[in-house]
Amino acid sequence: MIPVSQVVVDADTEARVVSVLRSGALVQGAMVEEFEAGFAKVAGCRHAVAVSSGTTALVAALQALKVGAGDEVVIPAFTFVATLNAVLAVGATAVVVDVTLDYTVDPAALADAVTGRTVAVMPVHLYGLPADMGAIDATARRHGLAIVEDAAQAHGAEVAEQRVGSFGVGCFSFYATKNLSTGEGGMVTTDDGDLARRLRLLRNQGMERRYEYEISGFNYRMTDLQAALGIGQLAGLKAMNDRRRANAARYTDVLSRGRLEPPTVPEGRTHVFHQYTIRTGEGPEQRDALVDDLHSRGVGAAVYYPRAVHDYECFEGHPAIVAGDVPTARSFAERVVSLPVHQHLGDSDVERVAVAIGDAALVDRD
Ligand SMILES: *Cc1c(COP(=O)(O)O)cnc(C)c1O
Repeated sequence: MIPVSQVVVDADTEARVVSVLRSGALVQGAMVEEFEAGFAKVAGCRHAVAVSSGTTALVAALQALKVGAGDEVVIPAFTFVATLNAVLAVGATAVVVDVTLDYTVDPAALADAVTGRTVAVMPVHLYGLPADMGAIDATARRHGLAIVEDAAQAHGAEVAEQRVGSFGVGCFSFYATKNLSTGEGGMVTTDDGDLARRLRLLRNQGMERRYEYEISGFNYRMTDLQAALGIGQLAGLKAMNDRRRANAARYTDVLSRGRLEPPTVPEGRTHVFHQYTIRTGEGPEQRDALVDDLHSRGVGAAVYYPRAVHDYECFEGHPAIVAGDVPTARSFAERVVSLPVHQHLGDSDVERVAVAIGDAALVDRD
């Protein structure tokens, strides 16, 4: 089965990890600092603060902005649950709005959702495609809202040649399946020096100097082992994203004929294809049949995500979730399929996937 994601550790990276092991200094130290400095460039920001995961990056960003009880944060209905959980974790209210045809938050729905209690918007650059940051930034400025970007899937993506993670406070994940991975890990990026300092305090029990607590913090630290894994991937990020785009272009070419909808890339935005996600017709039956068909051909295909983010019993009637109608998110949850598009695919793998979806696109499923 051609996997949807794959972790490959090169010899240099292995040696760097071994050097950390042999040094005996495993906790946050020089490697983390080096990784932060390198990653700040990926996000086009002055500051990058490494943390333990993408989820803690989102939580720390909200805490650094002093978002809490009584505050509303607008999020898209079609995303990984961490986006929602981060808002709930800081005690704020999540206002869930619909997405557009490109899978990112609908800027008009986001603007409509703003109330006197809204303090932040949290666009998600889903599958590696930046949200419509021009429109979102205009709304945020008009109402004085903070932007917290969930860039967990979008390392190196751009809008009008500006890197994601630099439009507001950027939150990245290095979970094993992400484009850049350290097993577990995350990063918060910002140009604001005061905010960066607050993030560093929050990460380390509220202290810069030992036992001199300045605020109430937590432990969000990354280890030097994780940073050692990440450093080696920074130099190759552009080539990796280029390779993902080339694989995506091959699939989109095949899908120009037939009845499966390929992902679209709006003018001015660069997609880094964390996932290459296609849509079948209405109703879940066609999608489920396609997943089965792809699996039978040895093509790993997966569904991200099978429901709108808040369509679970545990969130039903939740006092801190406000959600209106989200028909697009609910429709996509029944129709999306993600294909292997990563940089470790060989040419023959890409062709196998292309042939499989080309055949599937021509099947009349009505
Ligand atoms: C992976 C992911 C996260 C959370 O990252 P972790 O490192 O797994 O905590 C948040 N948001 C989105 C959109 C993600 O894909």
